[in-house]
Amino acid sequence: MSSTRLKGVGVSAGRASGPVVQVADPLPEPASTPAPTDPAAEAARIRPATEAVAARLTERAEAASGDAKAVLETTAAMAADPALISQAEKLVTGRSLPAARAVHEAAETFATALAAAGGYMAERVRDIRDVRDRVVAELLGVDPPGVPALTGPSVLVARDLAPADTAGLDPSKVLALVTEEGGPTSHTAILARALGIPAVVACTGLLSVGELRGLVVDGDTGVVEVPSGRVEVLAASSGRKAVWNGIGITADGSRVKVLANVGSAADARAAAEAGAEGVGLFRTEFCYLSATNEPTVEEQVKAYSAVLAPFPGKQVVVRTLDAGADKPLAFLAPEPEPNPALGVRGLRVAFTNNGVLDRQLEAIARAAEQTGAEVSVMAPMVATAEEADWFVKRARAAGLRRAGVMIEVPAAALTAREVFDAVDFVSLGTNDLAQYTFAADRQVGAVAALNDPWQPALLRLIALVGKAATEVGKPAGVCGEAAADPHLAAVLVGLGVTSLSMNAAALTRVGAGLAEVHSDQCQLAAKAALAAHDPEHARLAARAALTPRRAH
Ligand code: PEP
Ligand code: MG
Repeated sequence: MSSTRLKGVGVSAGRASGPVVQVADPLPEPASTPAPTDPAAEAARIRPATEAVAARLTERAEAASGDAKAVLETTAAMAADPALISQAEKLVTGRSLPAARAVHEAAETFATALAAAGGYMAERVRDIRDVRDRVVAELLGVDPPGVPALTGPSVLVARDLAPADTAGLDPSKVLALVTEEGGPTSHTAILARALGIPAVVACTGLLSVGELRGLVVDGDTGVVEVPSGRVEVLAASSGRKAVWNGIGITADGSRVKVLANVGSAADARAAAEAGAEGVGLFRTEFCYLSATNEPTVEEQVKAYSAVLAPFPGKQVVVRTLDAGADKPLAFLAPEPEPNPALGVRGLRVAFTNNGVLDRQLEAIARAAEQTGAEVSVMAPMVATAEEADWFVKRARAAGLRRAGVMIEVPAAALTAREVFDAVDFVSLGTNDLAQYTFAADRQVGAVAALNDPWQPALLRLIALVGKAATEVGKPAGVCGEAAADPHLAAVLVGLGVTSLSMNAAALTRVGAGLAEVHSDQCQLAAKAALAAHDPEHARLAARAALTPRRAH
């Protein structure tokens, strides 16, 4: 019997194989009809369901330790809460709701009350919703949503994963990650790379193969094999080993800082150990993906200081909260929008919420003072020079000397000269710049090819920004995933980019690649890629320009 081969988009390098654990899809909200024919019997189903969920959580708590144990114990207690059970039962007998709907509504009442109480109580909203979903799944006889407890090394398979789920994965247990949907620059892909977990997204057909017992995953090529027999457990290996001395410089001596993208203190330590010259993008919103309340200034100072600490005297670019679209922050939730990626996200949230931005800027300034890192701030999702000016003035008022903006909206790239007048530097967010240039949602697997960072249209926008940077003599970095591809990094340098920021795992490859090429080769490669008809030809043309004259 032969194995089945599927092709997705490789988004986090390395090969791994092992048994599959499937992540259940999120549960839809249970319907309030049909009304039960025997409400008393329907109500009587609730208690055993909550008991089964509590027992399972207690069992997991017994096997866990530390914080995980405490969380599981609290959640088990919530599942067995008599007040929740009796309120749900009353909704069945009083309003003739199906049991699943009644549990959903009762839990929501509790969640609203907890959120209103604020502080520690509000932090429990997530837990009560987790319990709610588990009990509803039990009543409906389906698997509970979310990543299940892993008992051994496993390949995770999901339709898609929320960034908050991915951030909580344990890299020692997750051999690889494969999703049927999702795009190469989705935040789930970015987090998988940061955790060093091989990952393939947009793997069409994965969930229709039938029972998946084991998988062989190649995060470089995007090939996923479904073997017919047993699968050996193989932990990630990414092949070639490059060597880099920790200084970003081309073979002819042009300095291009090689920096890291980080979202937590652990990322920052890993980046420093991997030789990053500093941080080109600190995604502060990653610190608060699960927070239900705005963190206090003190809490923020503590979180940011922990990220800045490994970089005293070194450049760290802190991005203010990029909330919205696929990174919703509960305390900055917008009104429901038909197209969240085009709605109130990034800096736009701050226009109606000045206080949140000002408190964050204050915390960043204090963390910078405490740690001695050379901190700059930048704003996400800036569309015009006027917005850039608004942000920079607020940053300066908070005592932050260096302020810039991300260029990730085509309008900002097209008006780069005017944007530069307002700022000290810009950083190109090529993930969003591609999404907005091609009108192709970065989370949607079906349009993943349009979000290829080698697309000539994207490169032409970057070229406009690089040219403006050279003319005004101000820095233009790239902190999107494009910077993590060694050949594309050389093209970006040829387009006028002055620093490159990427996940820690890519630093050595990109630093070593830069050291092998001359600036004039970078320019030739850039010219060839710009003139190409499509991403494939751009890649080939750039590679040809970069290979013939290696440094000695
Ligand atoms: C980008 O859009 O390229 C970027 C770096 O920001 P994020 O991926 O966090 O949206
Ligand atoms: Mg972005």
